[in-house]
Amino acid sequence: MTQAGRSSLASVECLHCALPVPVYRRDGGRSSGQFCCFGCRFAHGLARPSAAEDDGALGGLPSTLVLRLGLGIFLAINIMVFSWIFYSGEVFGAVAAPDEPYRPLFALFAYLLMFLCSVVVVSLGFPLAGDAVDRMRTPIGAHTRFRGRVDANLLICIGVGAAFTLSVIHTVRGQGSLYYDTAAMVLVIVTLGQYLEAGAKRRASGAAGALLASVPRRAWVRRGGEVLEIDSADLAREDEVRVRAGEAVPVDGRVIEGASRIDESSMTGEARPRDVREGDRLLAGSVNLDGALWLRAEGVGQETALARVERMLDEARLRQPRIQRAADRVSAWFVPGVVLVALGVFAWHALNGAPTSGLFRALSVLLISCPCALGLAAPLATWNALRKAARHGIVIDSAITLERAAAVRAVFLDKTGTLTARRLRLARIDTAPGVSEIQALEWSAGLELTSLHPIADVLVDETERRGARPATVEAGKTLPGLGLEGRVAGRLLCLGSQRLISSRGIDTEFPAGAPEEATIAVYLADEERLLARFELAEVLREDAAAAVEALRRMGVEPTMLTGDRAGPANRIARALNLAVVSDLLPDDKLRHLESARAAGRLVAMVGDGINDSPVLAAADVGIAMGSAADLAKQAGNVHLIADRVDRVPLTLAIARHAMLRIRLNLAWAFSYNTIGITLAAVGWLTPVFAASAMFFSSLIVVGISRGAGSVRRDRVEDATS
Ligand code: ADP
Ligand code: MG
Repeated sequence: MTQAGRSSLASVECLHCALPVPVYRRDGGRSSGQFCCFGCRFAHGLARPSAAEDDGALGGLPSTLVLRLGLGIFLAINIMVFSWIFYSGEVFGAVAAPDEPYRPLFALFAYLLMFLCSVVVVSLGFPLAGDAVDRMRTPIGAHTRFRGRVDANLLICIGVGAAFTLSVIHTVRGQGSLYYDTAAMVLVIVTLGQYLEAGAKRRASGAAGALLASVPRRAWVRRGGEVLEIDSADLAREDEVRVRAGEAVPVDGRVIEGASRIDESSMTGEARPRDVREGDRLLAGSVNLDGALWLRAEGVGQETALARVERMLDEARLRQPRIQRAADRVSAWFVPGVVLVALGVFAWHALNGAPTSGLFRALSVLLISCPCALGLAAPLATWNALRKAARHGIVIDSAITLERAAAVRAVFLDKTGTLTARRLRLARIDTAPGVSEIQALEWSAGLELTSLHPIADVLVDETERRGARPATVEAGKTLPGLGLEGRVAGRLLCLGSQRLISSRGIDTEFPAGAPEEATIAVYLADEERLLARFELAEVLREDAAAAVEALRRMGVEPTMLTGDRAGPANRIARALNLAVVSDLLPDDKLRHLESARAAGRLVAMVGDGINDSPVLAAADVGIAMGSAADLAKQAGNVHLIADRVDRVPLTLAIARHAMLRIRLNLAWAFSYNTIGITLAAVGWLTPVFAASAMFFSSLIVVGISRGAGSVRRDRVEDATS
């Protein structure tokens, strides 16, 4: 239904931060865990217990990486301090040059620095270079072969190695400048920076599984007359589960005993508690506020609605939006481009007899360039937006949907069950002579048993409320947008709109007169005559007016599409001050959508997800109203499990906000790199400064992405502009 499932985009996620691993770092499934950057690999190594600890022999000993990093930082600081001795010579020239008697002392210091620095090179430079070399060895498909070969980290290592070697030569010769401090500090900052960046990425993408955290680990069940406390993982369907006041619900299930109020905010973002009593359905993760309840489990573990939402989010995260593919293409050229600039700078200086300053400028160019904004901006921002949407009870199936939702300019809304409350009220029944109300209800309820239309609920409930039972129906059939038909005791009955009945050549006039203008009229007939007419009253959803208003303020044009007749449709449309098209069959709705799209606009369709599947599927963004329990059977790219229309403008607002953040990040990346690389190339930045700038730039990128999708609900409702 969406073009999202292209397998070439299927991502591998980083073992440390769970963000997609860029193509050029993938190893084609060679190893079990893959990392998106050196930082994540390093951080993962830090967090993982050392091999010795695994054996249990030296429990608690930190991994060698911790020691290496700690040692590296400590030594680099010492190297910086001792290097000042040599700077005096650089700054004051011959005046500060050591007098003859002190030369041996200076030489001693130089050798000391050489020793300290070589420890740093071994402890931090080797892992960095090792990772880069691994990337070079990576077998990659023909398409990406080239990208895999260039790794900025490797060139940084070469640059640092050159600075170190140069210093060693100068130390042995006893003349020339020493760059031990630069070499050591660059290694420390690059490693530390990439390590901290990995942590920031992990935190920013971290709440995977956060939804499920609201499901309690332990549960009380009644089995064989006994009440036991067991692990939630061991719950089974049909178990009777106790949930006391203040406890979270461990399963999806139906209340079999007790009454209470339930807080479902973890799923729907709705703060107002819901009253529940026997027969009501509860979802795992909601919290029982007042009374003690017994539930019969209907969904446990991975079958719960919450687990399904979590899985959808997980999949959504790995399908990247178009803007990311564009960024990927740029970043494929970015690293080679930076490398070329660096090599060019070095070559130019070398040819002009200044290889050393060429070396440092080239190193600065490599260090300051920050490709991470390109790779990171979209995945982090979309992931944060998807998660924030979920907190409002909005489940979005992919980043691609998010991207489209941001561009939506027209929204079509279904009437019954979408703009109006799902629950209808049976306002009046008229029957033909010789037909009782109960009979009419039994036949209709029989036909409606298989239907998921809101009309079905009222008729079936009313029949049961009157103590009658739905009739048995054979060969029942749904007539989309019209009603239903089926055989009851051999007689063919049909139930539905006036249009349906008239189309069978049956008069729909009743002696009681026309139905009330504002109600939905549903007719029951056999092959010869009209048997009954039901009038159903519908009420607007309390948030419908605000939602329509918010859409309009966002510059989105809302229109109501309905299969109902003009009377009730116009009443609703007037109340909401909304354009309306009535008397539509499902195919007409499709045509309507198509013509709106032909005008070049992206359109969203909001419907109840079950009746309106084809239309939802045809829209650029199909938004299904419904509960989390319906999630599996619904069509659509967006599921409003909060079951509120005000989530429609909120969805669009979150999407726009996320896209804005992504663009902001790309703009930052572009200007930062252009300015930074230029300054580094002309020699205004030292390598140490360049490495630090790069670290802050990546933190800025992470910070911008983290905020993506943070839209306040009340802001959307009374947004002006
Ligand atoms: P809407 O666009 O308002 O959701 P539908 O296209 O679902 O309306 O249905 C249009 C009309 O068809 C309804 O107003 C009703 O008269 C009739 N209809 C559809 N489904 C049913 C049903 N299950 N039972 C009775 N009538 C139905
Ligand atoms: Mg409908």
